[in-house]
Formats: sequence, structure tokens, C-alpha cells
Amino acid sequence: MKRFVPLIIVFFVIAGFGQERKYVTVHKTQKLMGSRFDITVVAINEEIGYIHIDEAISEITRIEKLISSWNPDSETSLINKNAGIEPVKVSFELFRLIERAKKISEITEGAFDISYASMDKIWKFDGSMKNKPTEEEIKRSIAKVGHEKIILDAKDNTVFLKEKGMKISFGAIGKGYAADKVKELLVSKQVVAGIINASGDLTTWGTKASGEKWLIGIANPLSKDKIFSWLPVVESSVATSGNYERFVVFDGKKYSHIIDPRTGYPSRGVNSVSIFAKSAELCDALATAVFIMGKEAGLFLINQLGEPEAILVDDNNKIHKSSGIHFDNNP
Ligand code: ADP
Ligand code: MG
Repeated sequence: MKRFVPLIIVFFVIAGFGQERKYVTVHKTQKLMGSRFDITVVAINEEIGYIHIDEAISEITRIEKLISSWNPDSETSLINKNAGIEPVKVSFELFRLIERAKKISEITEGAFDISYASMDKIWKFDGSMKNKPTEEEIKRSIAKVGHEKIILDAKDNTVFLKEKGMKISFGAIGKGYAADKVKELLVSKQVVAGIINASGDLTTWGTKASGEKWLIGIANPLSKDKIFSWLPVVESSVATSGNYERFVVFDGKKYSHIIDPRTGYPSRGVNSVSIFAKSAELCDALATAVFIMGKEAGLFLINQLGEPEAILVDDNNKIHKSSGIHFDNNP
């Protein structure tokens, strides 16, 4: 055993020298999964960097084919088409994603729910909505929502949506999932460092080509281009859910695209939530959930969970933080 110790040290010394090599940073932006993806990798030369970026793009495209509820040929669409009819056998990958999504529904007491998706028949955020849905429409729609009605059978990898008209979609978890999967793929190909940024939901590994940590800037909600705090993201992820991008306005009231599945109404009281954790998938889902749960219940949950941390901006632009985040509140 004793002889093993110097060996480990030698290994690190060599790895240390390896860092001296000149690395370059290669970057590409592309629209994928209906979102803007910024892919950054650190590589020994540009050519290799771009090869890895192409691998990243293929992986995201593959995931989109699996989870898209817009693509009529995806496994997800097949599940939706068979709602109330029969269980659908799916890939192990999709099965596991749905299983994890259901766990997040449980810990967030239903605030996060991939079956919220049947509500997209009444709440539309693409500009096509002219009137607020009626109470009756809302009532009818929430009857189709409920993670407990997503029936999983691990023996056969089948998914069954119990009621006709039910629907699942991965709008609040898919980008994080894709970021994690791309990172896993590139790490397995010995890519030393990178950032996979799906419109603000991002994951990082390694360090910048210069050896410095990747940093993310926390903007002042009142003046978006003023960063008042930089947080290092070391081998970890961040995701943000906000009401500033997609919303509708009725009678002067702003309705966000994040729906509380328990009431059928867009969530109110929070302007944005950022979650920090190792997994981008968890960050993505929890950002949506905490947005719905609100500052008290949401931050209480985050503090209980331990690993994730949160920064929440309420509708008075006041900043609230979970217990592990430390910076001055009043920039
Ligand atoms: P963004 O897509 O802007 O990054 P989110 O990650 O919070 O924001 O995802 C919001 C999307 O998630 C919505 O556009 C919708 O597709 C879906 N969604 C809305 N409400 C819920 C909910 N309660 N549970 C799960 N997904 C939801
Ligand atoms: Mg999300």
C-alpha cells in the first residue's frame, strides 16, 4: 500500500504539467430544442474543439427526438396519444427520466408536474391567446393533471397516462437533462472543460483554458446589465425560471408561462428563481417548482434538501437566498 502513495503523487504531477499545455476555447451558438444553446469547450486545438461541439449538437438532437411532445413520432408523443388507452413501452432512458420527474413532483408536493401539459390547451404563450380561460375551462383541465396518474411499470419499462386527455411534456426539465447528458458524453471523450448553456440553464466542468474557475454573474433585477455578484460554478449547474420572457397580460395583470398544476393558474409572487446544484436537470426542475411554491415554501424546501441552493427575486424585486448563498443583498 505504501508504494501506492508516491505513484498517485507522480500521476498528479504529470497531470499538472498537462495543464501547462496551451488550450483553446471553442464556442458555438445554435437553436436546438426550441431554445438557444451556447456550447463552449476547452480543447487542445480548434479542430478538435469543433468536433466535440458537433458531438454535443448530435446528442441534443437525439434527446429532442426522444422527449419532444411536438414531434408526433417521439416516444413522448406515443405516450400522450395512448393516454387513457394503454401503457406504452419506452426506452430505459425515457422511463428513468419520467421516474425522476415523478420523484420531483413528490418532493415539491405537485408544484412541478410533467402532466401539467394538458393545461397548454387553455394557457398559450405564443401570442394566440385572446381571452383569459374561464373557471370552467380551468377546472376541466386540472382534472387531467396529476403525477400520481402517470403509471410506471419498471418490469416492462411502460408508461401509462391513466386518463384520456392527459399529456406530459418536459418543458421544465428537458433543457437541464440535455445539458447533463452532453456534459457526461464530452467528459467520457476526455474533453477537459466546458459549459453547456441552454438559454441560461447551464452546466460546467473543468476550468477556463486559463485555469480560472467559470463564474456566473448574478444580475441586479432592477438593472439587468449590472452584475453585482460573481459566483464560481465548479463542476456544477445553474438554472433560472423567470416571468420576464414568456407571459400574457390580461387587465393589466401579468400571467407567466409557469402554471401551478394545483390551481390551474399561472404562478404569481415571484419574478425569478435561480437554483444551483450539481445536476442541471435537478436545477431546471427545481427552479420551476420553487417559482410556483413561492419564497417561503420554496426556500424552506431548498434548505431542507441540503445540496441545492437558491436565489429568488420576488415581485417587489427583493432578493431572497437559501442558507448556503452568501453575498450582500443590497448591491
Ligand atoms: P424556461 O423554459 O423559460 O427555462 P422553465 O424551466 O421554468 O422555464 O420551464 C417552463 C416551462 O415548463 C413552461 O413553458 C411549460 O412548458 C412547463 N411548465 C409550466 N408549468 C409547469 C409545471 N408546473 N410543472 C412542470 N412543467 C411546467
Ligand atoms: Mg425549469
